[in-house]
Amino acid sequence: MKIKDITAFPIRVPREDEDAKNADAAKNGAAARNETAAKNETAEGKLSHRPPVIDFGDYFVDAETFTSIYSKHHETTVIKVETDTGIVGWGEAQSPVSPGTTGSIIENLVRPLILGRDPFDIEAIWTRNYGAMRERGHPTGFYVDAIGGTDIALWDIVGKATGKPVHKLAGGRYRDRIKLYVGIGGIDPEKVADIAEEHVGYGYQALKLHLLLDADGVAEIARAVRKRVGPGVMLMCDVHMRQSVASAIKLGRELEKLDFAWLESPLVPDDIPGAAALADALDMAVAIGEWNRTRYEMREAFERRAFDIVMHDIARTGITEGHRIGTIADTYNIPVAPHVGGGGILSVAATVEYSASCSNFMIMEHSHHANEYKNAITAEYFGPSNGYFEVTGKPGLGIEIDQSLVEKYQVS
Ligand SMILES: [Mg+2]
Repeated sequence: MKIKDITAFPIRVPREDEDAKNADAAKNGAAARNETAAKNETAEGKLSHRPPVIDFGDYFVDAETFTSIYSKHHETTVIKVETDTGIVGWGEAQSPVSPGTTGSIIENLVRPLILGRDPFDIEAIWTRNYGAMRERGHPTGFYVDAIGGTDIALWDIVGKATGKPVHKLAGGRYRDRIKLYVGIGGIDPEKVADIAEEHVGYGYQALKLHLLLDADGVAEIARAVRKRVGPGVMLMCDVHMRQSVASAIKLGRELEKLDFAWLESPLVPDDIPGAAALADALDMAVAIGEWNRTRYEMREAFERRAFDIVMHDIARTGITEGHRIGTIADTYNIPVAPHVGGGGILSVAATVEYSASCSNFMIMEHSHHANEYKNAITAEYFGPSNGYFEVTGKPGLGIEIDQSLVEKYQVS
């Protein structure tokens, strides 16, 4: 079998407004509180749940901190790999902004590297692709996203060619269902508690709070949510690299009292010494790794034990390198909680297959409302029930993509 063609589809799907839904849920839950105030909050627009932003139209950034650029839409890069036998594999390189950049790398660089190769040579292809730009200083970022997304498509092909689900080929089935946590957020303690209550109502037993405030503001929301959902719900907190070592220690001590399972991304990614000091200072677990794509990038953090839970993103690492990172984590007795974030539906499916075949898997990230618009490109709805994805026996990634729908959302 030979790879005959590869096509990148940078896509942009309008959000079936997740934030408005959350605001509605907050409003419904807040019936006893001031209706007018809730309405005004919603009317301020879809970004009203965040600290002030600088609005670029499609994209925005935080006005007061130097943190990530976000899209108002769902953006990602879908990858189609065709073989000379007619088998087609689908993959995804997570591209929360500028999917055209990833698409261009696939068309211009990955294409010549992989055409004519046997898709079963997955690990050899990843290594060939990775090495091709290493000397020039592209060991991560968009380039590695592109080769990781291609890797996912190759696993889909190999699964379809053998009639096996990917997890059976990538280590075997460790579990029959994948436990999920859902991400929620906001800046008003009672509103975030309302959204938390709403999601527990959907059957999730684990919630992660995305909190973009200072340590005191984060702790206040964390207290409100714990009080509302009670002691039985697993809670985590992602502060999106907005803390210093000192403020993260202060915050972590508050979250420890509230029995939070982890503090996520407290510091900027390259502060490995700070991360090591923080992990040492806190009793609670610190989780990092969504920004890393290879085991090489993660080596120092592992060696210095700068974290307690690793959360690499399969639509950035690919399944092949994701497994290598998971295995190194296992060597250090560190559990894996795969990041999905803004990843699309192929990212979700690939992460389910990865999680099924990862010995040290802990819990997978999920977005309840976003899963609706992520499904804009599927022929058949792909989603969990009651807080879990069932691990199926369907070949490949176990998901059906409708190319006409992918093309509908394609951006040039
Ligand atoms: Mg995160």
